[in-house]
Amino acid sequence: MDPMLVAARPFDRAVSRRSLLGAAAAGTALGGVMRLAPPAAAQDEESTPAAAGPVPAHRVGVGQIDVVVLDDGLFPGPANLFAVNAPPAALAEAVTAAGLDPAAITLGVHPLLVETGGQRVLLDVGSGPFGPVPGTLPAALAAEGIAPEEIDVVLITHLHGDHFGGGLNADGQLAFPNARYLINAAEHEFWAAEPSLDELVIPDEFKQLFRQSVVDFLAAMGSGLEQIAPGDEIAPGIVAVDAKGHTPGQLAVEVSSEGEGLLHIVDVAHVPAIHLAHPDWFLAADNWPAWTAVTRQTLFDRAAEENLLVATYHFPFPGLGRVTKDEVGWTWTAEG
Ligand SMILES: [Zn+2]
Repeated sequence: MDPMLVAARPFDRAVSRRSLLGAAAAGTALGGVMRLAPPAAAQDEESTPAAAGPVPAHRVGVGQIDVVVLDDGLFPGPANLFAVNAPPAALAEAVTAAGLDPAAITLGVHPLLVETGGQRVLLDVGSGPFGPVPGTLPAALAAEGIAPEEIDVVLITHLHGDHFGGGLNADGQLAFPNARYLINAAEHEFWAAEPSLDELVIPDEFKQLFRQSVVDFLAAMGSGLEQIAPGDEIAPGIVAVDAKGHTPGQLAVEVSSEGEGLLHIVDVAHVPAIHLAHPDWFLAADNWPAWTAVTRQTLFDRAAEENLLVATYHFPFPGLGRVTKDEVGWTWTAEG
């Protein structure tokens, strides 16, 4: 597969360079499945996250299990993509109160490495070539002294490019050649059917790019994707958790050892200032918005009640924290 095949051709005569870059940011913010931007080297510096190396990994212990947060880079995007149903004034207020610029929200991207029972399990593989600049996961792993061959299990939590993009090398070979690659069977089934994506609040051209990027990835993986289900144990102390909504088969992940617990909510929420106080504000790329709200309620309520350490894929690095329950939503307290 050539993951770079999704190009800007349909757009580049119709829109200005600046709006094209905006579209690229939108695409990546929508889940990173679209590559609409010109190659990173050709972009304006002001529009592109720094191409520097990854920030140092962040380690946290969960009982006997080590969890390592790895930096894959950043995605920029306007706030309204993350809350398409929010009243504009309320969204602007929520964002600016948190000290953020509504026109330029920046998401982190950080896969987790979980070391348990002699196995190294990677929870998502970063953007690879799908981001505004190439993902830095390979460099982040190298900085930890870990070779791609030493990864035993790769979980693709859902089929958006910022989660699966780094799973294959540019030549279409497995980036982690000795790993079992896992995905929720429901997620695989949804995307393999090449869905219309009518429910997404994005232009039709973007829907086609979403579909095609996944079709290409599934074709390249062939039978190499092992299908699992919520409740399955991925490795000792690591269990897949149903997190449908953002996509129909998104998985969250629970890590537990010796009475300690971590709940990785993945893309159940993207921006703490937006989604924790407003559990029903959903993304332009959410397939099942009603389930997005239900899943937030289920997972964040549980994290609050059990005082679980919460990991996220897109909150500011390292994306770890705890939640306390409010009358509506939750308060996020970052840790680490
Ligand atoms: Zn994501």
